[in-house]
Amino acid sequence: VLDYFDTKCASSKEITDRAKARIPGGVQHNLAFNFPFPLAIEKAEGAHLVDRDGNTYIDFLQAGGPTILGSNYGPVNERVADVIRESGPVTGLFHEYELKLAESIHRYMPHIEMYRSLGSGTEGVMAAVRGARAFTGNKMVIKLGGAYHGWSDSLVYGLRVPGTFRMNAKGIPFATTSHTRESFPHDLGQLKRKLVENRALGGTAAVVVEPLGPESGTRPAPYDFNAKVRELCDEFGALLIFDEVVTGFRVGMGGAAGYFGVTPDLTVLGKAVSGGYPMAGGVGGREEIMATFGSGLDGKSGAHIQVGGTLSANPLSSAAGYFAIEEMARTNAPVIAGRAGDRLTRGLQRLIDRYGLPFVAYNQGSIVHLECSGVMLLDMHNPLKLLKENKPRKKQMEHMGAAYAAHGIITLAGSRMYTSMADTDEVIDDALDRFDQVFAL
Ligand code: PMP
Repeated sequence: VLDYFDTKCASSKEITDRAKARIPGGVQHNLAFNFPFPLAIEKAEGAHLVDRDGNTYIDFLQAGGPTILGSNYGPVNERVADVIRESGPVTGLFHEYELKLAESIHRYMPHIEMYRSLGSGTEGVMAAVRGARAFTGNKMVIKLGGAYHGWSDSLVYGLRVPGTFRMNAKGIPFATTSHTRESFPHDLGQLKRKLVENRALGGTAAVVVEPLGPESGTRPAPYDFNAKVRELCDEFGALLIFDEVVTGFRVGMGGAAGYFGVTPDLTVLGKAVSGGYPMAGGVGGREEIMATFGSGLDGKSGAHIQVGGTLSANPLSSAAGYFAIEEMARTNAPVIAGRAGDRLTRGLQRLIDRYGLPFVAYNQGSIVHLECSGVMLLDMHNPLKLLKENKPRKKQMEHMGAAYAAHGIITLAGSRMYTSMADTDEVIDDALDRFDQVFAL
């Protein structure tokens, strides 16, 4: 594996070495691997990535999830290029594509009666929580252990397991997290106890969940979990927030809400909502709640929460999202990407069996997990132990990611893969041959 990086990746090494002087940590945001060094990528096209040395990889990172149609998707690019030519990338004022995007979202996710565009998934979750507090008058927020909802102060994960897992807590005063409670994944009894406790602490404004389970279903939720959380939220007067940053459009045009048949009060979208273009994120939901996010146009600005930003709605990202969503619906992209995920998972399961590997492969459509099975079993029976042991597992899996890369496959940290509409049977079978080579090492 190291031989590959030594002999085939000289340009990546040179660029990422240079980056150490000007970019903290040498990379801005790298979801694949940093050992022995990150790859400098030249191009993302369909199901493939090409690095600066001209090596081609099968791309199961897909930019972290937004490109359900495949990377650099021509028909959307052409429409976006037209918008840039006709309108410019930014006007600073309202553009019809902002409305068209909100209308498209409502078409496929009817419970999103109104939608506020923001800059990222992180911002969408921040806004959802603030809106939930303003709407309910309650203070507390509950999230599930291990779930990722972006990097905001009060929701970055692992904050509320004192003395155990304080990953990512540096630079965040503990008081900032005092209104967040973390509940063990999928433990409805504990969730209910926290809702009861919160009554004395100002009430629960919202329960925030990734509907597939923490970390995009790495800790998979039982099928009826979301419906049960919905019931608990209703019982305690809390809003249910679905973080659909990954699942929105990916598990189906109706997102996880459509998949599980559970209607949240607020939904956070990101990634695919800009079709792989920048400024991907926002929050939407029932009209009466979304009124809290008003713009002041109705003369009641004092009643509204402050959300938004300079570029949070603009012709470019709004048009990209609108065209991508309509194209995903027209082409049935989520289903096609999901079938590719099924094929990849079945193939990985066969390889795991053949080589007797301590791995488990499972998927939710186009979201494919390849995890160390020992840790997964711990997860099911003892989530706290997993939280404690998460770091070494992450390192191990990241090293696997470098091994896969040396054989021409890019994954998310060696353990997660997103498939897209560009993943034909040939691409998946090619990937399985490459995994076979890694496992045979
Ligand atoms: N929620 C979930 C479930 C996510 O996976 C992510 C990003 N990976 C976010 C929120 C944050 O989105 P962004 O990176 O756009 O801020």
